[in-house]
Amino acid sequence: MDNLIKALALNDEVRVYIVKNTETVNEAIEKHNLWPSSASVLGKVLTMGQLMGSMLKGEEALTIKLQGNGEVGKVVVDGNAKGEVRGFVDHPHVNFINNNGGLNDIYAVGNDGIIDVIKDLKMKDLFTSSVRLTGNIASDFTYYFSESEQTLSLVTLGITINTENKCDVSGGLIIQLLPNASEESISYIESKYDILNNFSNLLIGHTITDILNLIFDNKYTLLEEMNVSFFCPCSKDSFSRSLLTLGSKTLTEILNEDGKIDAECHYCGEKYHFDKTEIQSLIDEAKSQGK
Ligand code: ZN
Repeated sequence: MDNLIKALALNDEVRVYIVKNTETVNEAIEKHNLWPSSASVLGKVLTMGQLMGSMLKGEEALTIKLQGNGEVGKVVVDGNAKGEVRGFVDHPHVNFINNNGGLNDIYAVGNDGIIDVIKDLKMKDLFTSSVRLTGNIASDFTYYFSESEQTLSLVTLGITINTENKCDVSGGLIIQLLPNASEESISYIESKYDILNNFSNLLIGHTITDILNLIFDNKYTLLEEMNVSFFCPCSKDSFSRSLLTLGSKTLTEILNEDGKIDAECHYCGEKYHFDKTEIQSLIDEAKSQGK
C-alpha cells in the first residue's frame, strides 16, 4: 500500500510531506497502457496530486492541469484530502530516451506551457492559480508555491520506469519553510540538496519514515501518516446521468442509428456499455424529466 507522511522538523520551523506511491503509478500505467515517458510525466503529476491533496481538509479537492508543447499533450490530475488521485495524459504512448539512457520529461511534457491548479475549497468559487510550465515539473511546482501560495518550498520528485514498462519506484517530497524559519534551518536544508535531488535513489530500499530519519536525523514530530491510492469514483450511474443531459431526441437518434453506447472514463479508462434496453430506459427517464 502506498503511503504519505506529514511531519514538522527543525524545531517546528519546517513542514515536511513525503509520499511513496509506486502502486499508484503502476495502476495508472495499467489503466491507460502508458509508455515510459507518458508514465513518468503522469506519475510525477499524480505524486503532486497526492502531496498537495494531503494539504487539504475534509471534502476539499484539487485539479492540476499541465498544458505544454510536448508530445504527451495535456496532463490532468484530480486529488483529494484522502490521498486519492486519478488522472490522464492526452497521449499515453510516448517514449523518449535521452543520451544518458534516462527518460526526458522536457521532451515529453514540453518546455513551454502553463500549469493550472484549481482548488475546490467547498466555498462559492473555485480558486485557480497558474504558473509557467518549463518542463522540470519539480522546479515548476517549487515556483508555484512561492508565487501562488507565498510559501518557500523545496519540491523533489523521483520516478523510474523500467524497460518492461513498470514503475520500479515513485515518490516525492515537499519541504515548506514556515514563517519562523531561521537561517540555520535554511542552511541545513541546503546541505541536503544532493541527496534530495536524487530522490529515486533515496526511495529505493527506504520507507518514507527512513527518508524522514535520513534527512532530519530523528529530529522531527510526526503529524500524520496516511494511505494513498489511485481511485476514480466513476460508475455506470454517473455515466447514465451525463447521458441524460443529451435529451430524449438525441438519445432516440443514437438508439435508432447505433443501438448501443460505449463510453469510456478519461480518468481511469473504465468502459461502460449501454444496450438497447438501457438506452430506451434513459429515453423514458429523459422524457419524464421534460428533456
Ligand atoms: Zn473513471
